[in-house]
Formats: sequence, structure tokens, C-alpha cells
Amino acid sequence: MAANIAIYSIVFIYGIIVGSFLNVCILRVPLKQTIVSKRSHCMSCGHVLAWYDLFPLFSYIFLRGKCRYCKAKISKQYPIVEFVNGVLAVLCFAFAKFEAYDIKHINQMVLVSKDPYYEVYDWAASVYDFGVIILSCILCSVLIVISVIDWRTFEIPFGANIVILILGLVKLAGTIWADSRYYKIYCNLIEKKPGFFEVLFARGRGLELIMGFFAVSVPLALIYYISKGRAIGGGDVKLMAVAGLFLGWKLILVALIAGCLYGSVIHIIRMKVSGEGKQLAMGPYLSAGIVTALWVGKYIVEWYSGFFS
Ligand SMILES: [Zn+2]
Repeated sequence: MAANIAIYSIVFIYGIIVGSFLNVCILRVPLKQTIVSKRSHCMSCGHVLAWYDLFPLFSYIFLRGKCRYCKAKISKQYPIVEFVNGVLAVLCFAFAKFEAYDIKHINQMVLVSKDPYYEVYDWAASVYDFGVIILSCILCSVLIVISVIDWRTFEIPFGANIVILILGLVKLAGTIWADSRYYKIYCNLIEKKPGFFEVLFARGRGLELIMGFFAVSVPLALIYYISKGRAIGGGDVKLMAVAGLFLGWKLILVALIAGCLYGSVIHIIRMKVSGEGKQLAMGPYLSAGIVTALWVGKYIVEWYSGFFS
């Protein structure tokens, strides 16, 4: 228990530290400024900030939301983004049911074949699972950047989609690595010579990811061209392609449905309450849908497929 609290605390602190970097991205990416070399400075007086002014979340609380040097108000966006990123990182670990126990007991049981029934204890399964959690945390961070920027500018930065594409490719490579390992062990057992493509797409999970790239993005791209970009933005289509590669075709469908539900419900409320215009940034809603699918999508898929078995 104590070990779990320690691990989840470390994850949260990493989350808010990454969150303060996300604020820099949110600020500078739409202005096409560099996100690495330039020191952070007060937006009002231009004073370069010291390291203790940059400590995520806490410096905002201690300074009571004001600049130390000129007392100008600091945007609430900074602590909110830091806090949300910390919470999302913790939830990525929690929904994956990660425990301190897993670190000591790295060998995990994998079902390699149902007929003949064959299981193998392998460390690769644990390394894969942990890697997916880390990738999921990064995915959530990129989605925060996309959501805030899209909310403000109605534009999803191309670079953010490229980062998600890289995350998806890394996951695809990891999936093929882990699954082909078990398949080769299995083939050894039944004295079969495995074929190249059998090894490449063993257990079907790698193929599922590749299909995810096209499952939602192709129909959306058609809508984009037919409506000449009025019904949906090009950035949204690209987002659903790269997120689909990360999630696989089943989960990206869940993400689309969840995202559209969030979007329509919240947008109707916003239009009723504040009479806001019809222009709708889909990025935040699609992002929320993607995170939903990431965390609980597999339970939704299991529940849904229960109707057909
Ligand atoms: Zn200042």
C-alpha cells in the first residue's frame, strides 16, 4: 500500500512537471516559436522566471496567482493544465491497474494458444504493458495541448498529430515485438517452422492497430471532401487517423462515438446558456473520446460484443 502511494505520488509529480512544459507548448506552438531553447518569462513585465517561479502548481499557489516581480495576474490556464496532466497520468496507471507488486514480479502469464492450450510466463509482457502505460501518459499530454490550442484557434497543430503518429508507431513496433516472441516460443513447442507474416501479425493485435489508422479516418476524410471542410476539420481527420493507429480499430470507433456524444451534448448546452456561435472546435471532444477509449474502451467493446455471442 505504502509502495503504491509512493509510486502514484511520483507519477503525479512527473505529471505536473510535464504539464508546465505543456503550457510552454500551448503558448508558443500557435505563434511558431521555439519550445526548447528560450527561457520562460512573465507575459506582462518580461522578467525571466527563476526556477522556483516555475515549480508547477505550487508556485502558482504560493504566489497567489500573481507575478513575483510586477504582480500581474497569471492565467489560470497554467495551474489547470499542470493539474489535469498530473491527474491524467495517475489515471493512466490506475486504469491499467498498475501496482508496486508488478515491478517485483515481472514475469507475466500470456495465453499463446487456445488449441492446444498453451501459456507462457514471459517478462516481455510486463515490459510491453508498462511501455503502453508510459505511451498513454504521453498521448494524454499531447491531447491536452491539442484541446487547448484547438479551443482557442480552431486549429490542431500538425506537429501534435505527428507526435501521436510516432507514439502509435512505437506501440505498433512493441506489439509486434511482444506478440511475435510468444508465437516463436509456441512454434518451437509444436515443432513448426513459422512463416514471416505469421510471426509479424501473430495474435492479430498488430493488424488491429494498422486497421485503426483507417477505420475512422477514411469515412471522416470522405465527409471532409464532400463538405469541402465545413462539416469537419482536416486536423480532426488526421487526429483520428494517428489516434486510431495507437488504439486499434475497435477502440477508435469507441473514441469517435464517445467524442461525438460529448461534443453534441456540451455544445447544445453552451449554445443554450451563452448563445455561442455555431463554430465548433471538435478537438477537445474527440480528445476526450480518445481518452475514454484508452481507459475503458475495452470494457465497452466486451459489453457490446456480449450481445452477439
Ligand atoms: Zn511580471
